[in-house]
Amino acid sequence: MAIFTKENYISQPLTVLPGIGKVKAQQFSSLGVKTVGDLLYHFPRGYQNRGDICLLGEASMMPMSCATLLTVGSVPTSVRLKGSRIMTRFTAFDDSGKCVITFFNQPYLKDVFLPGAVFRFWGRVEKNGGRFTLTSPDYELSGEGRVLPEFRTVYPTTKGLSQKFISQTVAEALSYADLLCDPLPGSVLREYRLEGFADALRGIHFPQTYKDIDGARRRFIFEELFLFSLGMQKSEKRAPLPPEAVLGKADLKPFIALLPYELTGAQKKTLREIYHDMTGARPMTRLICGDVGSGKTVCAAGAIEIALQNGKQAALMVPTEILANQHFSALAPLFEKRGYKTALLTGALSASEKKKVRAALAGHGVDLVIGTHALLTEDTVFDDLALVIADEQHRFGVNQRSALSGKGEEVHTLVMTATPIPRTLALILYNGLDISYIDELPPGRRSVKTYTVDSGYADRLTAFMRKQASEGHQTYVVCPAVSEEEDDGDPQNDNVVPLSFVPGDKALSPIPMKAAVNFSEELQKALPDLRVGFVHGKMKAKDKDAVMKAFAAGEIQILVSTTVIEVGVNVPNATLMVVENAERFGLAQLHQLRGRVGRGSAQSYCVLVSDASPDSPAARRLKTICMTEKGLEIANEDLKLRGPGDFFPTASGGQTRQSGEFSFRIASFCTDSAMPDQAVRAAKALLEQDPDLKDHPATDARMMKLFSITKNTMN
Ligand code: ADP
Ligand code: MG
Repeated sequence: MAIFTKENYISQPLTVLPGIGKVKAQQFSSLGVKTVGDLLYHFPRGYQNRGDICLLGEASMMPMSCATLLTVGSVPTSVRLKGSRIMTRFTAFDDSGKCVITFFNQPYLKDVFLPGAVFRFWGRVEKNGGRFTLTSPDYELSGEGRVLPEFRTVYPTTKGLSQKFISQTVAEALSYADLLCDPLPGSVLREYRLEGFADALRGIHFPQTYKDIDGARRRFIFEELFLFSLGMQKSEKRAPLPPEAVLGKADLKPFIALLPYELTGAQKKTLREIYHDMTGARPMTRLICGDVGSGKTVCAAGAIEIALQNGKQAALMVPTEILANQHFSALAPLFEKRGYKTALLTGALSASEKKKVRAALAGHGVDLVIGTHALLTEDTVFDDLALVIADEQHRFGVNQRSALSGKGEEVHTLVMTATPIPRTLALILYNGLDISYIDELPPGRRSVKTYTVDSGYADRLTAFMRKQASEGHQTYVVCPAVSEEEDDGDPQNDNVVPLSFVPGDKALSPIPMKAAVNFSEELQKALPDLRVGFVHGKMKAKDKDAVMKAFAAGEIQILVSTTVIEVGVNVPNATLMVVENAERFGLAQLHQLRGRVGRGSAQSYCVLVSDASPDSPAARRLKTICMTEKGLEIANEDLKLRGPGDFFPTASGGQTRQSGEFSFRIASFCTDSAMPDQAVRAAKALLEQDPDLKDHPATDARMMKLFSITKNTMN
């Protein structure tokens, strides 16, 4: 024990805890838990509310596990079954009746269940004929002054790790609470009335009441927002430009004259803002936020024109090869016509081609380069870079963007995103970048007809999919779950109050969830002459790609998926988007999903399937989606109805994160719209007082960990 100190305890390997050998450590590691700190931050998936005791009569009517309080009525007797299994049975009762309880291969239980003793059971009560039955329930001795905890914690787990074992290990780690250093400074805890680290850990892992969960959750949500904001603020300092680096005036008229269309009002306004920034005394840090198809690219092109007219270089960075090619074929001819040299730089180029492009960049033989991460390598050097543009910002890590802007002395940065972000949240997510909203689509776009139906429409919907296919079009179907067998091997986990639970919100739990794999089988049966495929985040990247390619090529007519298709798919031939259990999705997410159709010339449709009751908050959300296609309006409504949490991406969803991207664990549960603001303020105050976090090593360490980077890659 002596080796542990406040400085090193949290980063110790799990094997320092009793009972953790190589095998267990390996199992934990597959959950991403490698250190004591990882374990403490391995938050529960939810809780079984075992304090909510049901009578046998009530319990038997519920299709899930629940708690009962029963008195043992008979001495357990064991019999040997075929195949050498031993069955042990006894009866127990409450005021509503008598229950037969059965266990297998545990004959010693006759010494546990003594007649007259009271136990709290957790399991699914069934009614067979006139009798209640319980098979292999969980049990805890009750009665006689014994206080049983209300909640049983349920963790995300993996094969070989029982809930009980995880729980014990967490308790073990928590037993050295005095070795824990709070990543939140005391002043922050006091000012925002947050629970201390050890208390909050106890509250989230071993709560006694909902209040414990709530207080702990609040603290960890704040912690995440605070650390995120801290990292963002630390990485983006904006000093004024030296006079010689300030760009001169530029004339955009000849550039605009080359466009085959009239700019929309929103585009003109954005261009004016960009012009103002780029010719000002400080480097531009601007975000263009506009729905898919709103015409962000031409605004970026305007920025490029300003840089090039000043004799400088510009770089446009995009997250995928496909996007790079797309942008290059749209922009290169335009700028070549203007007399500038352009180049494409992606990983797909041969080594010698890459070398050639890099040499040209270093010698200013190229004015505009468009590319992927290949732009970030150390051997990519510019002669005189003045502008960096990142498309689809959310797919780049913070430090990647700053790595690119670091390639020029005084670089203007422009970021484009199709994710609509309310102004108040942009403050935290984008560290107060200036924002241009493009809230207007170019004329002549067809809107996507959007409807909400209940599951009674299933047959008509299948017929509609067939109709789309007969017209040569394709359908997306999105389901909230991967497969119906999706659980962690604990048969009693089906009555778990999720960690995101908001007391008083009963809207979701009773509606059964559609699962992608199973639903695709159903659809294939109903539509035998069509090809139905499925794709989800748990598939291997290779398999996923193959299915997506087949869909893009039109070989698959109906693609059933989880939300993995949210990013980076463009199949203009798809005209129907069906979202099952639409009540489970946030508005912004639904909006993104709808954006997958309506990309071709044919009329497109979005059908939201939901059995949420008409007066529920979920139904109100769906109504919003049906009424407007404006991303920002939807996002603002989402913020009002659900709080800001939906805007903080979680690591789940099967997308691998770029290093340097922040991994949120719990901030997506945030429902308090004042909190992001407070976190930003707290981070700012701390940095003013301790810019390098020298006096706050625990804060610094946790922040670095969440940005999944090491100290020397972030400045
Ligand atoms: P996004 O905002 O999704 O990046 P793009 O910039 O790719 O959108 O623009 C989508 C399409 O709309 C492109 O084909 C582009 O040429 C076209 N477009 C952009 N602005 C206008 C406009 N003002 N009028 C007509 N078409 C436009
Ligand atoms: Mg775009």
